Amino acid sequence: PAKDPNQPPTPTPIEGVTAVVPVASGKGGVGKSTVAANLALGLAKLGLKVGLLDLDLYGPSVPIMLGVKDAEPTSSGDKLAPIVAHGIKTVSIGYLMDNEKALIWRGPLIMKAVRQLLHQVDWAPLDVLVLDLPPGTGDVQISMAQEVPITGAVVVTTPQDVALVDAVKGVDMFKAVNAHVFGIVENMSYFICDECQKRHEIFGNGSVKPLCEKLGVDYLGDLPLDTAVRELSDKGTPVVLGDTPAGEAYLELARKIKA
Ligand code: ADP
Repeated sequence: PAKDPNQPPTPTPIEGVTAVVPVASGKGGVGKSTVAANLALGLAKLGLKVGLLDLDLYGPSVPIMLGVKDAEPTSSGDKLAPIVAHGIKTVSIGYLMDNEKALIWRGPLIMKAVRQLLHQVDWAPLDVLVLDLPPGTGDVQISMAQEVPITGAVVVTTPQDVALVDAVKGVDMFKAVNAHVFGIVENMSYFICDECQKRHEIFGNGSVKPLCEKLGVDYLGDLPLDTAVRELSDKGTPVVLGDTPAGEAYLELARKIKA
């Protein structure tokens, strides 16, 4: 029988890619892209073959964080060849669009771009493809869930109450499409003072763990608020590449996801 064009596509695995791990957040500015980039590089540091797909339509920042903002992907046969940075393969939705036009992209165009970036890029062979999603729930998330089976999602939040409400929405979105959620990671959780070495919990503390229990997902740990995290991302060499306590915190997240 002919396929009903109104039916959504059935999720299809990406050839040669073992796991797909979206990184999501309920709202912007909580460090979702930072976590996605450091998680991808952390998994590579642990010996996996990794890809990082930037689907953050409203602020594609992966090319800057990986130091490949001026690189242009080339074609390889009928597929797009990803850019290789710090040993991982990467492509950004930013390469397909004009930054100013991002906000006027409509559903069908977004769906097409998401499909192409998942299925028409030369990703293989990969152990894991990490996806940096836009904040919130929208066309990109729906398209992603229709296009590929999800291994497990990582939801990023900060300890603030307002961000937590959004984290719940983030988790619910994956539950609605029957996708597994690995858990919630708490970013910008604490600040270690250079002078006094004391731990300051700037946005409060202790509410993410009980939230995870309530939602039935794992608590994936806390990540420090650290100037070096931002500075190194801006320089194109994310903190996890180095050997610092902040880098170690992100590497620990990668260990949990690998396991
Ligand atoms: P999102 O993807 O959620 O919008 P980003 O990852 O772009 O957030 O992070 C927003 C800003 O906060 C960036 O400038 C980033 O470098 C900075 N940032 C993220 N996480 C941390 C952290 N743990 N410590 C310090 N700065 C951070």
